[in-house]
Amino acid sequence: MKLNELNKITTPFGNTDKMPVLFLGHGSPMNAIEENEFVTGFRNIGKEIPKPNAILCVSAHWETRGTFITAMEKPKTIHDFGGFPQALFDVQYPAPGSPELAKETKGIIKKTEVGLDQSWGLDHGCWSVVKNMYPAADVPVIQMSLDYYQTPQYHYELAKELVSLRKKGVLIIGSGNMVHNLGMIAWDKLNTSDYGYDWAIEASDKMKEYILDNDHQSLINYKSQGKAWDLAIPSPDHYLPLLYALALKEENEKVSLFNDKAVAGSLTMTSVKIG
Ligand code: ZN
Repeated sequence: MKLNELNKITTPFGNTDKMPVLFLGHGSPMNAIEENEFVTGFRNIGKEIPKPNAILCVSAHWETRGTFITAMEKPKTIHDFGGFPQALFDVQYPAPGSPELAKETKGIIKKTEVGLDQSWGLDHGCWSVVKNMYPAADVPVIQMSLDYYQTPQYHYELAKELVSLRKKGVLIIGSGNMVHNLGMIAWDKLNTSDYGYDWAIEASDKMKEYILDNDHQSLINYKSQGKAWDLAIPSPDHYLPLLYALALKEENEKVSLFNDKAVAGSLTMTSVKIG
């Protein structure tokens, strides 16, 4: 056996084929325990792609001043929501962390000084979807925070620095929702399949067009896209994880969409697979 083959087997972050990158529309935390078409979509994508050595998740639900990466051995399951059934609070997702990958990721980021975090864990933006992909919780997971003091362009450029991890078997997931306006949720339409307000559909269609045309700059400049986009993205937290995923796309890579539906008027579950 050659030395590089040995390396492939004995170290978790040795060279591998290039992993795909995902943006996942996570929607309601209930997707962690419900059966529905979106959950089926998460499960299918987990089966479709090579099993990763580890996952790095950029979740809409971890915003910080500065950029942090979880670096504990055993990240706790954070139930960062209210008003849901006890069954959801009882969910634990005991995937291990990876202090090694956290250190390695800190090392490759030059744009900022990344902090290694010991107090966060896995928030629902991460575990509610990853649990469906890897129910055995046997893939180590780390999270990277969103610095809420930075511009969309900054986030996009920061994300690009993660690209080498794709060839170390690391699955990078951005978890948010492209269209996400909780204040305008149509509560009476929660169970109506694929229901989006006109402005939500308008913004969503344009976003998908830009994604499939590789027009990332228009997506970065989302604040100048007009009224429909202003309603679709009232705050950047659920949108920025999309920019993290797109930034990692390399030339000539295939981009495909799944779970492409609207929910309750003001949300879209549209998810993206790159590579
Ligand atoms: Zn969310």
